[in-house]
This record gives sequence, C-alpha cells and structure tokens, in this order.
Amino acid sequence: MKTSYNIDKNGFYGDFGGAFIPEMMHANIEELRKKYVSLITRKSFTKEFDELLKNYVGRPTPLYFAKRISEKYNTRIYLKREDLCHTGAHKINNTIGQILLAQKLGKKRIIAETGAGQHGVATATVCALMGIECVIYMGEVDIKRQSPNVARMKMLGAEVIPAKSGSKTLKDATNEAIRDWIKNPVDTHYIIGSVVGPHPYPDMVARFQSVIGFEIKDQLKSLENRDYPDYLIACVGGGSNAAGIFYPFLDNKKVNIVCVEAEGKGVNSGYSAATTSLGKEGIIHGSKTLLMQSKDGQITEPYSISAGLDYPGIGPMHANLYKTGRGKFISINDNEAMDWGLNLSVSEGIIPAIETAHAFAVLDHMKFKKDDIVVFNCSGRGDKDLDTYIDFFKL
Ligand SMILES: *Cc1c(COP(=O)(O)O)cnc(C)c1O
Repeated sequence: MKTSYNIDKNGFYGDFGGAFIPEMMHANIEELRKKYVSLITRKSFTKEFDELLKNYVGRPTPLYFAKRISEKYNTRIYLKREDLCHTGAHKINNTIGQILLAQKLGKKRIIAETGAGQHGVATATVCALMGIECVIYMGEVDIKRQSPNVARMKMLGAEVIPAKSGSKTLKDATNEAIRDWIKNPVDTHYIIGSVVGPHPYPDMVARFQSVIGFEIKDQLKSLENRDYPDYLIACVGGGSNAAGIFYPFLDNKKVNIVCVEAEGKGVNSGYSAATTSLGKEGIIHGSKTLLMQSKDGQITEPYSISAGLDYPGIGPMHANLYKTGRGKFISINDNEAMDWGLNLSVSEGIIPAIETAHAFAVLDHMKFKKDDIVVFNCSGRGDKDLDTYIDFFKL
C-alpha cells in the first residue's frame, strides 16, 4: 500500500516521473538533482525566499470567503487569491524560488521557454529583479499571437528568441531551450514553469508552489478553527498551481482533491486538452506521465481557449493522483469556462484568468454539503484574457 502521494527517492510518483533525458543533458540534471534539496531547505535560503514572497510578490495572499457564490451554491466557498500576486498569477512563486537557486549554483544566465508568454514574463521579471541575463524561447506563431507579453518581456530586459521549427509553438520553443542548455551547462540555469519535465523539476516546482497550501492551512485555522478543507479545487495545465494547494494535504484523506482539465470544444472533437480522458502513458519533456498521443506515439496538438491549459500532458504527481484515484478529475469545456469568467466577475467582483474560470465551473458538476469547506485556487487574474472575453461576449 502506498502511504504517500509525494515523490519517492528515485524521483517517481508511483509509476510516473523519473528523468528520461538524452545523455547530453545528464550533467545539467545531475547537478540539480544532487544539490536542490540541501540548497532550498537551508535556513538562509528559506529566509531570502520568504522575504521576497512577502515584500516583492505580496504574500500571504488572502483566503477570501466568497459570500455570494457560497449562498447560491449552499456551501462554504473560499478563494485563495493567487490573482493578487505580483504579475497576476501564481507562476511568480516558482520563478522566485528558481532564480535564488540559480544564484546559489553560481549561474550567470537564465533560459526559459514560454507558450502564451505568462511563464516568460514571470521569468523575465525575476531576472530583472536580480540583474541576471535572460533568454526566452518562444514559438514564432506564439510571438505573433501574444504580442503584449512579448512587449512585457522586452521591457523587462529579456531577449526573446523565436523558435522557427515544427509548428512554431511551445514544444518547438522547448526543444530550442533544451539545445541551448546542452550547449551551456556550466553558466546557465533553465527555469521550467510547471511541475513537469525530468526529476527533480516536478518536485522542486511543487515545493516552491507549496507556499500556497501552507498558507491555506494557517488561514483556515483562524477562519474555521481547523487546518484543512473538505475540498481543494484547481485547474490543471501542467499542474503547478494545483500541486501548490494540494501539497500539505496529499496524505490527509479527509481532504478531497479535485483537478480540472480543459475539455476545449469537447473531448472527442479533436480540439481538447483533457489529458486524463484522452491520454495514455508515455514520455514527454523527460518525464513518464499521461499524455495525448497518436497510436504510433506522436504527441497530438492540444487545444483550449485558455493558453495556460493548452498542454498535451500533465505533471507526474497528477498522473499518479489520477491513476490511484486520490484525485478526482473533471473536464470543463470552453463555453462553461467563459461563462464562469463572467459569473465570478458579476457575483464577486473578481475577473479571473480563463484558466482559473475552468476550476469554478465544477460548481455546476458537483454537489457540496452546506457545511463543507470548499477552497478554490484563484490562480490568476483575467487582464491578460480581456481580448478573448471581448470577442466571446461581444463586450
Ligand atoms: C499558467 C497558468 C495556469 C496553468 O499552469 P499550472 O502549472 O497548471 O498551474 C493556470 N492558471 C493561470 C492563471 C496560469 O497563468
């Protein structure tokens, strides 16, 4: 019997995880694997990390009791306000952690890949904060689609390099970043933006994001006089905001874990990112997990109206939560998510990111008891999605 849903000593969550990498990347990954735990658990590190989270990111973020939707759904709904973090989402928690780690490792240069540009902006932000050179790889197609984020990265001093191969999107940008890292193993750190990639990235990113869950524990204690909720609900792209809220509660079976995936235009429409419905076991970005693939193992293009959930895999922690039944997985389509973007705006005065809106849509799919404490991770704010909301609702 498995007693922990966390990582084992070989970097696996049950059957998933590990480091399936080309020989040429071995040195880079080994250095991280050997050093990350001792470096990031050091007192001097946690002190610096906590101070930046407090004074630069704006933590702790509030745990807000959402009165009107609680009344409407006849239960007790709390929102963990990651949308109030500097740069507008949880992603900054991880990039702050990794830039500090990079400094401790003596790295002089940061690289990252980005799809919609959110992780690129969070990375460029912390590089500006520390005065470290920053190179962001981004698909040529994405550069055209996401021009405001490209402008932000440039304002923050980053160099944005277009990936011109393949479909000119995220996976091609990832390939370019990996190539760069292999060429520059000594002076460069690669900041991955979610709980994906080879071990130790999923565990390292989950640890940095776990601040969200530990804050919830403290906050519930004073708000509800107990330090755990009945339900934790989060959207899952790669899975980092979800891993962050689940982390301290993984082994507490009283806490129900709910992961929300993007169904896109429908699971069988050919336009979907519902990985657990459509995916099979395989290897993506150096990690064994569930991913969407064709019969002969080619990764299929995912689709979601929200760029942050538009990923063909999920992190190995989540694949294990799915396979063991510890987590419940629900998929929400584009229209439901968009409606909840509007719902949350008019009923609580909070315009969520479209990724985040997917999570709230489970309120129309699940029944909760009157006394249940239901915590949603409000992973990001909707400013970046305004054009999509305008087009959809003809605002
Ligand atoms: C990037 C992003 C996500 C998805 O990434 P995870 O790693 O699954 O958390 C979700 N919400 C927002 C607001 C994002 O920017």
